[in-house]
Amino acid sequence: MLNINLAGLKAVVTGGSRGIGRGIVLTLADCGADVAIIYAHNSEAALEVRGEVEKRGRKGLALKCNVSREEDVVRTLENVYSEFGRIDILVNNAGINRDTLMLRMTPENWDEVIETNLKGSFLLTKQAAKYMMQNKFGRIVNISSIVGITGNVGQANYVASKAGIIGLTKTTAIEFASRNITANAIAPGFIETDMTKKLPDRIRGEFLKRVLRRRIGTPEDVANVVAFLVSPLASYITGDVIVVDGGLSLG
Ligand code: NAP
Repeated sequence: MLNINLAGLKAVVTGGSRGIGRGIVLTLADCGADVAIIYAHNSEAALEVRGEVEKRGRKGLALKCNVSREEDVVRTLENVYSEFGRIDILVNNAGINRDTLMLRMTPENWDEVIETNLKGSFLLTKQAAKYMMQNKFGRIVNISSIVGITGNVGQANYVASKAGIIGLTKTTAIEFASRNITANAIAPGFIETDMTKKLPDRIRGEFLKRVLRRRIGTPEDVANVVAFLVSPLASYITGDVIVVDGGLSLG
């Protein structure tokens, strides 16, 4: 377990029901935070994660909310605030992909990914910052992707959303600096989750050959960096992007 103390802090993690988000929720709870898990469809998975948070002696909330809809986001954060009394940490992790080559990509493919990944992060940041400003404290971590820095074939919509998240992060850091709110992004590489399980073995093998650490990443590899970024250890870091890719982008 990480030797990071987040006792008393209240966190919101979007897409906290599965994959990387699940790992982030459990790591924050292990460090002492109460955590609200936001999900879109799969209530069973969200309730399982809430149970794991409660097993750790922390308060957990499981809230269904489409992050791309403003009215959902406003209502959901009002619920979190009324249950927790404050919001200290926001992790914008919810994300989807609709991969295909640009010539085959439809405007609907484009909009769906941008709306969930980028607009969703904006809406959550805007609402959470209102609560964070009241306490003059906030820690925001946005989950981008290594492809938001490098680009990638078949992912124009996803890459644009993840590059946009980096711009959003830097602007959030600037606009809310005077309120003691930091904002940073993490750019994961190839992490074992439902999103990557659907890739054919051949593509997975190709990726793995390029990873200098010679293994696929785990949700915990990302979650540990989130815990660091929201902890007092990282109070002098804002507007930055931390790559967590095992060296994939160098391989
Ligand atoms: P995942 O296993 O597919 O899980 C996605 C999560 O997002 C689920 O909890 C899902 O909830 C939620 N979600 C999707 N659309 C939503 C919406 N409109 N509103 C609210 N929640 C929504 O994904 P993952 O692989 O853990 O990825 C998590 C994040 O890391 C994403 O932003 C992804 O782009 C990024 N990332 C992943 C990798 C990787 O290799 N896996 C690499 C770089 C970056 P439901 O299950 O209820 O739909």
